[in-house]
Amino acid sequence: MLNKMLIDGKLVSGEGAAVAVFNPSTGAKICDIPEASAAQVAAAVAAADTAFDSWSQTTPAERSGLLLKLADKIEAMAEEFAELESLDVGKPYSAALEDEIPAIADVYRFFAGACRCMSGSAAAEYLPGFTSMIRRDPVGVVASITPWNYPLMMAAWKLAPALAAGNTVVLKPSEITPLTTLKFAELLAEIFPAGVVNIVFGTGAEVGAPLTANPKVRMVSLTGSIPTGQKIVGCGADTMKRTHMELGGKAPVIVFDDADLDEVASGIRAFGYYNAGQDCTAACRIYAQKGIYEELVKKLTAEVSSIKIGTQKEEGVEMGPLVSRAQQEKVAAMVERARALPHITVTTGGKIPDMDGFFYEPTLIAGAKQDDEIVRKEVFGPVVSVTEFDTEEQGLAWANDSDYGLASSVWTADTGRAARFAARLQYGCTWVNTHFMLTTEMPHGGMKMSGYGKDMSMYGLEDYTTIRHVMIKH
Ligand code: NAD
Repeated sequence: MLNKMLIDGKLVSGEGAAVAVFNPSTGAKICDIPEASAAQVAAAVAAADTAFDSWSQTTPAERSGLLLKLADKIEAMAEEFAELESLDVGKPYSAALEDEIPAIADVYRFFAGACRCMSGSAAAEYLPGFTSMIRRDPVGVVASITPWNYPLMMAAWKLAPALAAGNTVVLKPSEITPLTTLKFAELLAEIFPAGVVNIVFGTGAEVGAPLTANPKVRMVSLTGSIPTGQKIVGCGADTMKRTHMELGGKAPVIVFDDADLDEVASGIRAFGYYNAGQDCTAACRIYAQKGIYEELVKKLTAEVSSIKIGTQKEEGVEMGPLVSRAQQEKVAAMVERARALPHITVTTGGKIPDMDGFFYEPTLIAGAKQDDEIVRKEVFGPVVSVTEFDTEEQGLAWANDSDYGLASSVWTADTGRAARFAARLQYGCTWVNTHFMLTTEMPHGGMKMSGYGKDMSMYGLEDYTTIRHVMIKH
């Protein structure tokens, strides 16, 4: 079974307490995995620190070659990885195989190329008799911490730019869904020199906290929740670590009277419930303009009630279970609190279905008001709320009235209005007449409490570098 971590080039078992991993589709335990001991966490950081000197001096072409090799191996093992990811997270096998694995390979290929194009700035003589130049150098040992919703994809978003830029890494996957990352450790062990990349397993408290606090770690990159981000940023202050935070989201979807409602309804069906809504950019907070509010709720109810839920390989399955019992209970409790409000109507779903595992029905909540918990807090489940708005100003104000700032979309036939919203929405990404689409060339990341720092794109690569000035006297 997959219970080995990667420390200093060796696949080793954890020496700490065992952590149980569950199958969300049945609720049954898959296995117990021992977590890293404090000494093993320290050994992984020490290995990364030792490896940094030679790895940071490799040429971009050398690093690129290894990342390309990794991408090829991922594709060659696509079915195995997809099988494991869908088992561990509960997502449909087809989504893991067709959506995620190609995107993961693409991320490694992009950064394999990007690091060969990255440069500082050209030399210039700002003072007579001196030449100045800017270098972009790696930061050092990077601790990367990933969440449970897209484990192998989040590992790619962290590992590819960090390694491409010449850093060494210690990565800790979520203790809830570690299986693909532990399998991946076997590939990393084959391809990279000892210590360049290390994988440690365990909970946030036992392994994540000592890893991120280690003084040899110079940068911590987290994709996770806001409370975890706050802890990591706080603890980084002691040793002045750089932090890179991809945190929660509550994406507003502003739908105007002139939008194509069939497109909107099918878009929200796809982008609000993908991965059972366990996505930081999920189209979950709908603002529908007065003139189309009733019609949109009707169309959405029809769309959402037709989403087929089931286990990974069931024929036609579109949505799997939630990742854990705790997540299922959290989602159910939020829906019950919303339902108790007199202005709310749950138009479809709103229950735990009579199935094994951690399923929750795709749910639509109509009549939500701006100050309702269901509008303000991240659900991270298959639950979408719809709120009626009147004017453009009100739509914009309500969309921006949120602690989060990750992703947003505006649906309208009026390009001037789309441009006004794109300029004024306070989100790291704004889509017009679509939602959810990402591409490796473009940055992904938040504003406000959704964090800072970018994943993917050249900006993502630069985030893993430090800028240095070199001045040469003639
Ligand atoms: P989480 O914060 O509970 O856990 C994330 C990771 O942090 C896990 O590996 C966990 O073990 C670790 N961790 C927890 N406490 C720690 C500590 N004190 N020190 C170091 N590490 C610690 O988040 P989650 O529940 O796994 O993931 C869901 C959250 O992630 C949601 O809020 C979601 O919006 C967010 N997310 C954001 C993005 C994005 O791109 N912005 C993408 C996916 C998920």
